[in-house]
Amino acid sequence: MYKINYFDYAATTPVDDDVLAAMMPYFSGNFGNPSSIHTIGQSAEAALEKAREDCGSCLGIAPRDVIFTSGGTESDNLALRGCAFSQRKSNAADEIIISPVEHHAVSKTAWQLSEEFGFKVISLPVDQFGMVDPDDVRKRISSKTALVTVIYGNNEIGTINPVPEIGAVCQEMGVPFHSDAVQAGAHLKMDMQRDQLNMISIGAHKMYGPKGIGLLGIKNLKNILPVQTGGGHEFNMRAGTQNVPLIVGMAKAFSASQDEIIARNNHLTDLRDYLVSSVLNSVSGAQLTGHPESRLPNHASFVFEGIDGNRLVMYLDAKGFACSSGSACKVGSPQPSELLLAMGFSEEMALGSLRITLGKDTTREKIDSLVVAIHESIEKLRK
Ligand SMILES: *Cc1c(COP(=O)(O)O)cnc(C)c1O
Repeated sequence: MYKINYFDYAATTPVDDDVLAAMMPYFSGNFGNPSSIHTIGQSAEAALEKAREDCGSCLGIAPRDVIFTSGGTESDNLALRGCAFSQRKSNAADEIIISPVEHHAVSKTAWQLSEEFGFKVISLPVDQFGMVDPDDVRKRISSKTALVTVIYGNNEIGTINPVPEIGAVCQEMGVPFHSDAVQAGAHLKMDMQRDQLNMISIGAHKMYGPKGIGLLGIKNLKNILPVQTGGGHEFNMRAGTQNVPLIVGMAKAFSASQDEIIARNNHLTDLRDYLVSSVLNSVSGAQLTGHPESRLPNHASFVFEGIDGNRLVMYLDAKGFACSSGSACKVGSPQPSELLLAMGFSEEMALGSLRITLGKDTTREKIDSLVVAIHESIEKLRK
């Protein structure tokens, strides 16, 4: 393994040692198919159902309302497509209300439903911090709304949306409400009842679990059209033999992140605040993006005047620091982040974005050396 100063925990996290240990027996020793009737199969089935219970209790829902998927992306796809088609069929509702700061797993799915399947997508405004106002949901929601989807904690700018308040508006109107909590699930206490959510997407690899596994949590929602058809797995909602080792790993990682939330957040918030003030003090023309308070505890994001964010990321990488820029990396023609544009940043500013996300292994010393590297790289790029 090579040594790097990792500051990209919102992209993915390493798998925790005890998560890996929990998964190992289910690859080769306890390898049964949970659908099989024999003892080996039933042993895998027991592990699957234990994981389902643990994940359900992380969300405050019954085990049978947990649908395991191949990750956050698939959960978002199942939520949007499954709910939209079902709502159109049962209620003739064909409008999808969405925020302009969604992950592509949500936004591209919504746009495909619009362009190929005749749904109407209604995009909410956001303020300068990328936050949705529940009153704007209230203004647009109607009996024609098939679902509302608003990201919980933003991957690019860290802003946390007022999910319970949006949930209350949706509940009042009887419209299904989905939130992509792939980032938030790693850092905030989840409770679908409190938040009045009908669907929630969770992924394991942003919370020290394995890649390629996620879930869709469902509450008080009768019909979702399955997107992947086949066998009767996952209560007929998602066909395909369950990936038992990854599911066991996800349950372990999710439970740990929910159980240790206060200790983890104290550690991360301190470091994040230290990082934000260090960057703002040492680099001219720097601005924090996203909400100053209502933001994920491990998340700092900036724009720097007159800088190409992708080049900055490459300079930092050369110095041994792994960070991320918000813009889609297209060699030669960088695209400014759609999200920063929606928040009112100019194209030029939006191109100079940098995301720094912290995790268990982050220390003040590492942050100090990162800030020096950012300062040096920006001086060089501005010359
Ligand atoms: C990472 C991420 C996804 C996609 O999850 P995968 O498990 O990588 O498919 C979706 N939404 C958000 C907010 C994310 O951060």
